[in-house]
Amino acid sequence: SAKENGRNSYQFFTPELNERAQTRLTLETELRRALLRDEFSLHFQPQFDLASGRLVGAEALLRWQHPDRGMIPPDQFIPIAEETGLILPIGAWVLRHACSLAQTWRNEGLQDMSIAVNISALQVRRDILETTVLDALGNSGLPAHLLELEVTESALMANQDEATSTLAAIHTLGVKLAIDDFGTGYSSLAYLKRFKLDKLKIDRTFVRGLPEDAEDAHLTEAIIGIAHHMGMAVVAEGIETEAQAAFLTHLKCDLAQGYLYAKPLKPEAFRQLLIKLGDHPASKPASSTA
Ligand code: C2E
Ligand code: MG
Ligand code: MG
Ligand code: MG
Repeated sequence: SAKENGRNSYQFFTPELNERAQTRLTLETELRRALLRDEFSLHFQPQFDLASGRLVGAEALLRWQHPDRGMIPPDQFIPIAEETGLILPIGAWVLRHACSLAQTWRNEGLQDMSIAVNISALQVRRDILETTVLDALGNSGLPAHLLELEVTESALMANQDEATSTLAAIHTLGVKLAIDDFGTGYSSLAYLKRFKLDKLKIDRTFVRGLPEDAEDAHLTEAIIGIAHHMGMAVVAEGIETEAQAAFLTHLKCDLAQGYLYAKPLKPEAFRQLLIKLGDHPASKPASSTA
């Protein structure tokens, strides 16, 4: 009724919502200053080859250490960074910082590995992404083939023509492309053909139910089959149990990432892991956890 509608629209001005809007506005202001105040850092989560147990890569994950609020998880500030456009300078910082750390470790003689960086939809613009990536590679000296960009299905769907030309340009540079959180977005098989993707990351919502959940098991097996037929390597995200790892190994999944092996690590802890694995190159992934 009109009376209820009136009440609903009145709800917009309740103190509770007002407070939420205020918190958001404050976060936005503070997010603007975070880059200048050096409040961002990267954590690195290792990726292991399931067949050999070797560490072959790492995903760089953004962290915001707020001066009063402590660590704010990316799910809470990335959306604000995207809506305000701040993800462009922040994303450029992430790329530069990730490439520079990876190259520092290479210069120390630690093993080569690929470094994966998450890219937001807003960054998938040819003029922006190509320049940013070239800048990060040029500044660090990291070889292009060791950098990998993770894009989500929705980022590809948002602006398909722009995405096609942007990712083709990135591919020409020799940088690798991965599709992140596969299975949670539109999951159109057409874009697996349209975009030259090197890797597919199976979302952890599918991994969670393995091996007992028959639907998750069938979907995972089908996704791995399609990816392999299309020439893509498969990464399983969010592996937490030995049973999940064993099942994914059985399905010929290529790479594994998850708390079973290691949580995202601070750069120094990750460096120590690289040193330790260098001493014992054949150690099994599960035993490499710090
Ligand atoms: P994502 O790219 O899918 O990253 C994987 C997320 O899963 C990470 O959360 C990681 O800590 C978490 N994870 C890894 N293994 C496990 C596991 O075994 N169990 C569970 N429950 N979780 C696991 P995180 O670091 O909180 O990042 C969340 C999301 O924030 C990322 O999801 C990504 O979408 C976004 N993000 C993080 N860093 C960046 C960045 O630099 N740029 C952009 N645009 N987005 C970022
Ligand atoms: Mg990712
Ligand atoms: Mg993911
Ligand atoms: Mg995600």
